[in-house]
Amino acid sequence: MTRHPLRRLRRARRAVVVRRRRLPYSVWRRASARLDCLHHLGPQERLRLRLLSGDFLAEKRFTAIDPLELSDTIRAVIAIQACLLILELGLDWYRGWREIIVYPDSFLVDVTVTDEAGVEHHWREARGGEAWGAGPVILSWRDARPGVHPHGPGSNVVIHEFAHKLDWLDGQADGRPPLHADMDPTAWHDAFQAAYDDLRRREAHHHRTPIDPYAATAPGEFFAVVSEVFFERPGLLARAYPAVYRQLAAFYRQDPLLALKQRHATAEKGRGAPQRKTIHHAQRPPCPARRPAPRRLQHEH
Ligand SMILES: [Zn+2]
Repeated sequence: MTRHPLRRLRRARRAVVVRRRRLPYSVWRRASARLDCLHHLGPQERLRLRLLSGDFLAEKRFTAIDPLELSDTIRAVIAIQACLLILELGLDWYRGWREIIVYPDSFLVDVTVTDEAGVEHHWREARGGEAWGAGPVILSWRDARPGVHPHGPGSNVVIHEFAHKLDWLDGQADGRPPLHADMDPTAWHDAFQAAYDDLRRREAHHHRTPIDPYAATAPGEFFAVVSEVFFERPGLLARAYPAVYRQLAAFYRQDPLLALKQRHATAEKGRGAPQRKTIHHAQRPPCPARRPAPRRLQHEH
């Protein structure tokens, strides 16, 4: 007798936690509507992403820099894209830090670099994003807004900075995040080294580069940039550097290109059905053997 109310109470408490963390549907819809990087996700994955984004928002702290005012949509736009990277990995991959700082526009950073001769060089640089190991993720909202690709098609500042966070997990941003037990570190190294060398060669000879040449500045930047392209333009990356694409698919445990192909095939099939119906009821061809394929019919109508 006494156990039932307790069990009910526990269940109710769990439900409260789930409800509190769930991103409201109206916010999710507004925030996700213009995010190209979600194009490969089906309804199930979108629901999981929405839930994970709610957990992310409950765990991380957002700080806006004047005059930017944080809205639920701004928070959600960032959370959804950050969580896309860890959709199949889990929130634990963003452990060890808490803060996301959002500037209204690009921000200035003092940079100091020591060259090979030991001479220090200092300069000020405008940035659209920054991420350090245990520190915050810093983003410029102007660059992070949905539909904005500040460094050309396929670029995405949010994915870039959060990929750095994954890379930093093992203590260094060397372009190799902690790999899963079923992944081969040699295969990862060979794929990334060959692509990185190719990009640097093209850059040195002023040849056209298939991805943002900024990727050629360091292995850590290469990983962050190819992660952007992997989610934003998977076909482009698979054509330019197929071995890198395969390694990223194994790491993120997602295959956006395959998912997109499957979604298109399903959509084609769906479009084909009513066309076949038209043949049967309105335009039955004289000889069934010469019945045109549904796809061709689509053009004829
Ligand atoms: Zn970077």
